[in-house]
Parts: sequence; C-alpha cells; structure tokens
Amino acid sequence: MGLKDDGGLKKGPRKPFIFYYSIVLILMIIFNSMAVPWLQSKSVIEVPYSTFLEMLEEGKIQSVARTNTEIQFKSDTGKTNLEGKPDYEVYKTGPWPDEGLTDRLLEKNVQFEETIVKQMSPMISFLLTWIFPILIFVFLGNFLSGQMQKRMGGGNAMTFGKSNAKIYAESETGKTFRDVAGQEEAKEALKEIVDFLHNPKKYADIGATLPKGALLVGPPGTGKTLLARAVAGEAHVPFFSISGSEFVEMFVGMGAAKVRDLFKQATEKAPCIVFIDEIDTIGKKRDGHGFSGNDEREQTLNQLLAEMDGFDGKKGVVILAATNRPDSLDKALLRPGRFDRRIPVELPDLNGREAILKVHGKNVKLSDDVDFRGIALATAGASGADLANIVNEAALRAVRMGRHTVGQRDLEESVEVVIAGYQRKDASINVNERKIIAYHEVGHALVAASQNDSAPVHKITIIPRTSGALGYTMQVDEEERHLLTKDAALSKIATFTGGRAAEELVFNTVTSGAANDIEQATRIARAMVTRYGMSDEFDMVALETVTNQYLGGDTSLSCSSKTAKKIDDEVIRIIREQHQKALKILKDNEKKLHEIAEYLLERETITGEEFMEIFRREPAV
Ligand code: ADP
Ligand code: MG
Ligand code: ZN
Repeated sequence: MGLKDDGGLKKGPRKPFIFYYSIVLILMIIFNSMAVPWLQSKSVIEVPYSTFLEMLEEGKIQSVARTNTEIQFKSDTGKTNLEGKPDYEVYKTGPWPDEGLTDRLLEKNVQFEETIVKQMSPMISFLLTWIFPILIFVFLGNFLSGQMQKRMGGGNAMTFGKSNAKIYAESETGKTFRDVAGQEEAKEALKEIVDFLHNPKKYADIGATLPKGALLVGPPGTGKTLLARAVAGEAHVPFFSISGSEFVEMFVGMGAAKVRDLFKQATEKAPCIVFIDEIDTIGKKRDGHGFSGNDEREQTLNQLLAEMDGFDGKKGVVILAATNRPDSLDKALLRPGRFDRRIPVELPDLNGREAILKVHGKNVKLSDDVDFRGIALATAGASGADLANIVNEAALRAVRMGRHTVGQRDLEESVEVVIAGYQRKDASINVNERKIIAYHEVGHALVAASQNDSAPVHKITIIPRTSGALGYTMQVDEEERHLLTKDAALSKIATFTGGRAAEELVFNTVTSGAANDIEQATRIARAMVTRYGMSDEFDMVALETVTNQYLGGDTSLSCSSKTAKKIDDEVIRIIREQHQKALKILKDNEKKLHEIAEYLLERETITGEEFMEIFRREPAV
C-alpha cells in the first residue's frame, strides 16, 4: 500500500472497492475498541513507599493488592469517569518489611484485592492492539475480494478499484483468420494491423503512424466480434474487450473512469488490442436535445476522444470497435486520428455462406450426402451467426433422430427451423382450413413458376410452424443475384399476391392468411417507387432514405405530403396490376391448381421437382 506497484496485470487491479471498505471498517473498529479504552485506561503511577504510608494515613486509599515484588493501591480522585462511576488513580510501590501494615490497612477500612493491574510490555501491547487486528482485516478483505472476483467473471474479469468496470483481458484469444470464413476484404484490411502489432518498430522507423482505430461496421452476426478476436490471435497480443453498454452506468462519471482505466491498462500492456463492442451505445451523436441528452454518455464519449488523442499511436495499441449503427455515430469519433478506418463486414454472399457452413461443419460429424452449396443457396440473406446456428440445429436434430452423423436432410430441416420455427405436429387444423391453406400455397407456387423472372420453387409445405406460418412455399435461386431488375421485382409482387388470388378464385373468399404476403409485397412496391427509381411517375428521385441500413433498414420519408399521396397511389397501382396478373395466371392454370393442391393435401410437403413434374405434365384427357 502506498508504494508504487509493479504495474503488472496481476497486482494493479486487484484492489476492488471491498478492500477500501475493509480499511474504513478497520479504522472504525480500532477507534471504538482500542483508542477509546486506551484513553480511558489507567496508567499506573510509581510512588515511593513513604508516599504510600502518607496516603494511607490520610485515608486516601480505597483498596490495595500485593505480590512479592510490588504493592498496588487505588486512590479516589474525587471525580467520576465517563461511565459515571468514581474515578480511581492506580499507584504502585515496592514492598517494604512493615509489620502491622495489615492492621493499619484494616483500621483505615481499605479493601484487599486479589488482582494486580497488569502492565504489558509496551512493545507487545502495541503489536497486540494495533498490528494484529489490522493484519486480520487485511487478510479477510483480500480473501473476500478474491471470492467476489471469482463470482463475477470466471477469473477473466478484472475489477477496477475506481470504476468497477468489467474489462475482459485475454493474453491469447486462440482465434485466427482461419476461423473467420469469407469476409476476405475485411481480413485484407486487418492484415496490416496484424503486421503492425507484430512489429511496431518497422512502422515507427519509417515514420508511419498506423490508424489508431478501426471501426468494424455491419449487420448483427456477421462476425465483427470474431474478427477482432482473430486479429489479436493472429498478432499474438493481449486482447482487452469491453462492451459499450457497460460504460453507461447509473452514476455519472463512472463511464469516464472506466475509459481511463481501460487505456491505462492497455498502454502498460502494449502492443495489444482494445476492442469496444457496440460502440454506438456511447458514441451516439451529441445532439444536445434537452431530454435525449445524456450527461453520462457524453462524458464517457468525451473521455474516449481525449484518450484516443492522448496516447502514443506508435506504441502499438490498436483500438477496434464494432457497431451496426454507423450512421448514428458522433462525427468526432470518425475524424482522422480516431476511428478513421472503416471496415465493412457485410452479410456473406453465396461463396461466403458455403465457406462459413464448412468452417462450422468441421465441428460436427457429417455424412457423405451433405451438400453445403445447396444449403448456401437456400439461405440468401443469412448471417454467419444464423449459419452457425443452422449447423448446430442440424446436429441436434441428428441426435434426436438417433443418428451418428449429420445428413443433408437435417441441414435442410434446420434451415426451415431457423426461417420459420419448429414444426407444430400437434396443431389441429380443420379440413376446410387445410384446404384453403393448400390452395393458397399452390397459388404462390404456380404464379412463381409461370413467370420468367421468378426463382424456382424448391418446396411447398402445409405443416404449420411455431413462427405462426400455416404453410409456406420456398423458392431457391440457382445462383446468387446481386441486382433486382424491375421485372423481377414485379414478379415477386405477383408471386406474393398469388396466395390470395387462389383463395379468391377457388373459394370466392378472402382470409387473413395473406397478411404477411401483403406486407412484403407492399414493401417491395414502395421501395421500387421511393428508392429504386422504378416508376415512370417519379423518375430517379429519392423520396425515402434508409436510416439504419444494418438493422432492418428503416426508412424515413423525405418529400412533401402531396408527393407522399402520389407515392401511395403509385404503390397501390403497382400492386393492383400484379394482383390481376396473378389472378389471370391462376385462371389459365385452374386445372393444375386443383391437381397440385390435392396432391399437396395428401402429402403435406412436396418438393420443387414433384411440383414441376405435375405442372409440366400434359393434361390427362
Ligand atoms: P457480430 O459481432 O458481428 O454481431 P459475432 O462475431 O458475434 O457477430 O458472430 C457470432 C457468431 O457467428 C460467431 O461466434 C461465429 O460462430 C459465427 N460467425 C459469424 N460470422 C462468421 C464467419 N464469417 N465465419 C465463421 N463464423 C462466423
Ligand atoms: Mg458482436
Ligand atoms: Zn402466402
């Protein structure tokens, strides 16, 4: 205590707040139990034997005790002590051969006591009353804090005296770029950082400063956290990580203290990586609006900015941060010298998905029929985390089925589980409704198959799912599409309306089953008009802007209310047109509609091939 510690990872931070509480407690206890009695305690006054005799004569002695080596006696001072009892002064003197002393004492009514007030050696008494209890409390405090740390984070989490922040420090993350499939561009961009961490001197010698920070930007589950860990693993440097949300605390000022601690630790351990996950929680734009303004967050952000400017970039501390809301970040964070390098981590493409499936497939036993390409084709838009989940679900299913390896069937089923939830085998749906559902789904499939720009039908099922879907039609493209043509967009809308069109045509009724189709069709039609410039009416005018591209892609309208009305009209026109087209397709193929719907009702699930076989079959005469 008080001495400079060695700055190591082990010693420095092992002083959690409980330690300081213990010290306060110790001081209080010492004061109460020792200092006060000490003040009250009697010192024993040594006097000559003659004084003893005089005081005895004067009747000042109340009690006396003796050993072979001393006589001790108490004399009333006439005052009262703190407890309200008469106060005594204790005296001692050496014994003297004095016959008749006992008689004289009796005469003066002095009490004879059996105990002598002990006076310890000052050294021992000091040790016993001051040092020993402190040692006990220090020991106890350390023990308790150790227990606390264990409970709080498996030994990895370190608790800081000042701020109580959980900063996860790992000397080796154990991940490498090989664990991250796809994301070649991101890896390429991060390789330079790895090289810099390997050999900061190489860069310093030539006078180059690497960016202090890099920002990983992308939708959730695309492997941003994984990439950051892989960079640390590749460079064999310590990895400090903290999540943005942990900075934001109840108490103003705590967040800023955490940032300070984090950077202090990191500079001591350089070269290393500091990773701030979900940085948008603290890095949000400071807009100064009364209510949305958050003092704590702003202080934390300011501290972060100050620290980033303050430390020496040549030392080899690299700050990585991840976010899926780059648009909401404060501009100050993005200026050169801070997070000036932005690394996009996008959703994987077809090859990326296949690679991710392979990486995770290594952890499970696969049977020979597994075709990851096919699964990758069926999972357009899935993130790395989704794919990892699919492989795991497939393995769980294989176990449930009592098999020892994961087959293609397991993977296909788990794709559907991830998309639509588990099968609801016990759901009881009456005959009538089942019939409507079957026609609805075949309606989608027929409209899709009758148009050139639609993806082929892969599967039709009327087994209900836990997501609430009563059935669905799966379409899988033969190859990845990167562009959406106007015709393809219109075909999609027609396909979405196909389910409802079949209900109208066959049952002459409409049901709520089309709610989701309607939503999706509208979204496409709206985007065509407001963002893709696919309507004649508005030409290439952006009427809507996407506000958070990585999280659901919310949009905000940027036009007059008059234009907004026209947009609505145009969207309605597009959908109505496609709905009519779908109705016409189904009317033209009514026989096929009945044929396939009956087949589906019988089988519950049919494959794309079965569907196409009936669809193409010459009508029986
Ligand atoms: P993010 O931080 O972008 O939200 P994570 O890095 O936490 O996503 O990824 C979650 C999980 O998804 C990872 O632990 C990994 O199992 C899997 N994953 C995501 N992307 C990939 C990838 N490119 N390669 C391999 N696995 C991935
Ligand atoms: Mg993450
Ligand atoms: Zn539908």
